[in-house]
Amino acid sequence: MAKPADWTSGVEAILYQSCGACGGVQYFRRGFCAVCGSDTLQERRASGEGTVYATSQVARAATPETRAHVPYNIVLVDTSEGFRMMAHGATSLKIGDAVTARFARFAGRLVPYFEKVT
Ligand SMILES: [Zn+2]
Repeated sequence: MAKPADWTSGVEAILYQSCGACGGVQYFRRGFCAVCGSDTLQERRASGEGTVYATSQVARAATPETRAHVPYNIVLVDTSEGFRMMAHGATSLKIGDAVTARFARFAGRLVPYFEKVT
């Protein structure tokens, strides 16, 4: 399979896979559906909308490149498409907040960054 044109390759998009057989959705790319095993998967672009499932503040930089960003927030978001993803988010986010994704630079890389819907 070709490398997806999403944020992991510097493109401002969040992609997921949708199963043509059972309708299951998954964020991590696989050659088959994790629910039913079918290989009739479609690549889809997520809206970037969702709800905060969990949030955790990182106060200690893991690498020298991320030191300038501390403290930052890592969130788990339940997307409106039905898959859960980990991403960066505003430090004010709380569990249950409705959020939307934009893209930001973090330690030189493009990353999804969630903010509260106002
Ligand atoms: Zn399936």
